Amino acid sequence: MTRTVLKFGGTSVASPAALQRVAEIVKNTRGHRIVVVSATAGTTDALIGAARAAEGGDAQTAQDTILRLSDEHRNLIADALGFESADVLKEIADLTERTTALLQSVAILRECTARTLDAIVSYGERISAPIVAAVLNHTGTKAEALSAEGLLITDDAFGHANPIVDETRARASKELDSRLGYGVVPVVTGFIGSTTDGVTTTLGRGGSDYSAAVLAAATKADDLRIYTDVSGVMSADPRVVKGAKPLESMSYAEAAELSYFGAKVIHPRTVLPAVEAGIPVRILNTFAPSDRGTTITSNTDKDGSVVKATTSLGGLGMITVQGAGMSGVPGFAARVFDTAAAERVSVMMISQSSSENSICLVVPDDATDRLKSALERMFNAELQRHDVEKIAVERPVAIVAAVGEGMRGTPGVAARVFTALGKASINVVAIAQGSSELNISLVVMEKDREKAVRLIHEEFHR
Ligand code: ASP
Ligand code: MG
Repeated sequence: MTRTVLKFGGTSVASPAALQRVAEIVKNTRGHRIVVVSATAGTTDALIGAARAAEGGDAQTAQDTILRLSDEHRNLIADALGFESADVLKEIADLTERTTALLQSVAILRECTARTLDAIVSYGERISAPIVAAVLNHTGTKAEALSAEGLLITDDAFGHANPIVDETRARASKELDSRLGYGVVPVVTGFIGSTTDGVTTTLGRGGSDYSAAVLAAATKADDLRIYTDVSGVMSADPRVVKGAKPLESMSYAEAAELSYFGAKVIHPRTVLPAVEAGIPVRILNTFAPSDRGTTITSNTDKDGSVVKATTSLGGLGMITVQGAGMSGVPGFAARVFDTAAAERVSVMMISQSSSENSICLVVPDDATDRLKSALERMFNAELQRHDVEKIAVERPVAIVAAVGEGMRGTPGVAARVFTALGKASINVVAIAQGSSELNISLVVMEKDREKAVRLIHEEFHR
């Protein structure tokens, strides 16, 4: 029998109408089904806020938040079912009591460790799973809510725990196989897990996708479906490019490149366990379930397209360290990057001319001045000797990236990109291409960003 893991994100479980859709989707999926759920949208943020308030000694705000969340979930399940389910209400009451106690301890100690925070935020998923299970049962699908504690086993890196694959596989088959055999749909909490000792952990923000991928791999699922509120990954941001189209399929590497540039449908790293296990990952829309969505696979075959998607990242600054005295000096680039690391500035893009006369770094705009000053201190002597001529800043700039496996080994792609921009008199400030040839990134002034995206998209998607 085919086995499908269906993961539903925060907006998919946050309203009675959405829960109805979820129930229909699960019902219409054949074979064995394992459901993984996020907390309702906004709940995890609210819980973190409550923990921070408690840590600052504001027990009242923390208490108000948890009571509000409790009320919202009680209303949600009542509205979704049309009656009050005593079981679910009891579950909500128990979880609320436990979390209130945790928040009170935090307020007294004025300390919230990563371990405590994980216990507090687990409320979100632990409360959504019984709600989803109740709706499934009510609509004729036998279901049972399960906490991933004791099921998805992790190390003790609280806040960003790492799943332990073998242990999880053993527990998952023990807990899930029999239920599936009886025709029950397990509804498992995403995002959370536990150590081998049973201490609650979380996998990091947005971690429910990761949970779903780990469970799909551990249970040898045939298919992982990630239901969200958009119909997959688009060829460009539809707010910028009118003709943007949903992508039917993409490779893991393409998805990784795109997400780096802020296409935030999923964080591909989180679905890697499924991709590595050869399980196709489909990104689908709960609110338009017959849309085809996007399938992410490990397959890197070219599909005839050259540039598959065009994306951009704004709010950046570019720093150029330039001077004739830099070329051929070993360790020069290392000093540039050490300076960035010491300033805790993340570098989004690098390019160096082959004459080695200049290195440029693209960094978040608000870090530009700080990094420039730090570089001036670092290269003070070289600046005095004119080995480094200047450290220049250009801002605000944006990176525009064209991504696609089909670019590899296809001559003339860069030329087409530059011609398209050149015709419209858009100045390209810097360029970089990864040696994987999967991505050409250019730096343009922020004001040219959207136009550049449109022109490149138009060039390759006519
Ligand atoms: N609820 C968690 C978060 O908001 C996990 C998830 O939604 O994937 O980060
Ligand atoms: Mg989420």
